[in-house]
Amino acid sequence: MKKVLILISIVLLSIQCTSKKEEMNTMPDSGLSNNPLLKKWNTPFGTAPFDKIKSEDYLPAIEFGMQEHDKEIKNIVNNKDKPTFDNTIIALEKSGSTLKKVTHLFDAVESANTDDVLKATSKKIRPELSAHYDKINMNKKLFDRVNTVYEQKDKFNLSAEDKKLLEETHKSFVRSGINLDDKKQEKLQKINKRLAELSQKFGDNLLEETNNFDLYVTDKKDLGNMPNNFVEAATEEAKNRGHKTGWSFTLQRPSFYPFLDYSTNRDLREKIFQGYANRANNNNEFDNKKVLEEMVNLRIEKAHILGYDSYADFVLSDNMAENPGNVYNLLKQVWKPALNTAKHDRDLLASMMKKDGVKGKFRASDWRYYVRQTRSIKYNFDEDQTRPYFEVNAVRNGAFELANKLFGLSFKRRNDISTWHKDQQVFEVLDEAGKHIGIIYMDFFARPSKKGGAWMNELRMQSNIDSFVTPIVTNNFNFPAPTKDSPSLLSFTQAQTVFHEFGHGLHGLLSNVKYGSLSGTNVPRDFVEFPSQVIENWMSEPDVLKLYAKHYKTGEVIPTAMVKKMNEANGFNVGFRTVEYLAAAFLDMDWHSLKDKPKEKTVEFENNSMKNIALIDEIIPRYRSTYYAHIFSGGYSAGYYSYLWSEILDADAFEAFKETGDVLNPEVAKRYKKLISSGGTKSGMDLYKEFRGREPKIDALLKRKGFK
Ligand SMILES: [Zn+2]
Repeated sequence: MKKVLILISIVLLSIQCTSKKEEMNTMPDSGLSNNPLLKKWNTPFGTAPFDKIKSEDYLPAIEFGMQEHDKEIKNIVNNKDKPTFDNTIIALEKSGSTLKKVTHLFDAVESANTDDVLKATSKKIRPELSAHYDKINMNKKLFDRVNTVYEQKDKFNLSAEDKKLLEETHKSFVRSGINLDDKKQEKLQKINKRLAELSQKFGDNLLEETNNFDLYVTDKKDLGNMPNNFVEAATEEAKNRGHKTGWSFTLQRPSFYPFLDYSTNRDLREKIFQGYANRANNNNEFDNKKVLEEMVNLRIEKAHILGYDSYADFVLSDNMAENPGNVYNLLKQVWKPALNTAKHDRDLLASMMKKDGVKGKFRASDWRYYVRQTRSIKYNFDEDQTRPYFEVNAVRNGAFELANKLFGLSFKRRNDISTWHKDQQVFEVLDEAGKHIGIIYMDFFARPSKKGGAWMNELRMQSNIDSFVTPIVTNNFNFPAPTKDSPSLLSFTQAQTVFHEFGHGLHGLLSNVKYGSLSGTNVPRDFVEFPSQVIENWMSEPDVLKLYAKHYKTGEVIPTAMVKKMNEANGFNVGFRTVEYLAAAFLDMDWHSLKDKPKEKTVEFENNSMKNIALIDEIIPRYRSTYYAHIFSGGYSAGYYSYLWSEILDADAFEAFKETGDVLNPEVAKRYKKLISSGGTKSGMDLYKEFRGREPKIDALLKRKGFK
């Protein structure tokens, strides 16, 4: 995923320029003048001096940034000159530079390496930020100027990109409620503030619940033939949790998945599975049911105030999909064939369990175990055969090599740039002429201070108003850390995740536009997963595999026969993966398409939603409501479908390469580079059509999934 920052989705005012800052503001007190976040950074490429920044520095710096932003807005409003594109739209675009700079860092650090101070800061500052942006977006005098420029746009000799900025700026005011009366505006501000608080609480509860769970195993027999690196990790985890001996398994995926894959103890598998499936649903202080119910109700109220039937209608009106009907149609098109495939696979797995001599009903917690068995018996394939070829740094190099072949980029390790955690790696990115184009930080390993999953952040957006500002991006993952005996060896899916997040990274790094708020990944949400997903296509191509999939001990390239087996084995279980994903996408749409407050409580609502699509008992949605961070603390509300939407684009786009007979075809790569360099300067569909010469078709996706 890519983190969609809530505050950015509230307002499209992304800014990089700092040239005016010094003359407009003097530091009000000595505390602030010593704050490293507010000082000029004499660092390579203006990267943040993480070695000097303390968690305590963020709160005062963000507060200062808001005050500075307020003053800049005041200057725009009080300008005696008639509104022009420059003195209003560009001035707005440049405003709030300090705030943006600091909050980008804060969002990234708070997600990837939080502590009590950062958590408290977040709790305090999110509602304040929401109120801050609301105040700007509901400033009628400011909007009068924007609207004047908007209505006279033909007078100003604007470029296509200028026009797009003007349209987006105007739209962000309208979507934030500028045309509402004072009473409704006040109500909306209250709702936004409360939503920011709740979203924060949802994420905090989830992290607590994930970290608190400990499946403590004392009998080695229960681990089955689990590979050594997982056993070692579990030994270390047990020690960290104060056990003298034994093995601890947690709800972090690098720990949870291997246990389900290998443990021969069905009851323990069920125990950890239920632990995972019931996170933040335990009727304790970290329960998320009431939190999300309040959020759903507030979102309905918000949609009504803004003149929409439902929150999904509101969100989708600003996306490629346009309305809930289009989304449901898309989900349904894929649902039936996926469910049929999954049912077929379930029967196969259940018969396997029976053959194993296990009595009773096949359960969701048995699924992974028997998938592994099937892969090993039916396809003679075991993921552990391939892991040694996917050592984390080798996979990273593979992603870099691919970017080299497609776009001529090269990556130089920089040890002189400070990081927020010792595990982070920093690379300078150079173009084919050896010119600096940006920085990427990569942070691979799971730890309790990091949120789950994988994501990309932009620490600094590319822009080119007065001078060219190069982008700085991060990639974050939750892979098992190396142990004393083994490096971090990835599964194929984990390796895919490296390419995925790196794809988001490239979207940020290759950006070449004028305005920060239209640059990089500042695109509609159902377009944002396209550049990341398309990159995944290359990683299993034989020509690309031989660039990086080398045995960590011997350096031997992964054998072709093994790749063939791996691809066949990975093809198995595609029904499950699609069904668990689609079930979550339906659940998201069901929560957010409500026209009125639901009568049911969370559990009942979710059960009904799943009954509607006839989900089978042996599969649960990839995210259940109480741990659905994408939609309740991550900016993907009424947007989880966008992975499938983007998948149509990515499968169809990769076909464009395949049709030439060369997956690295330089001419197609050049057209694709143009598409991802364009950020949000044009609509997703226009960009796609320029690349492909036509609209996307779903055929390539269905073919790839093996669905008819
Ligand atoms: Zn993504």
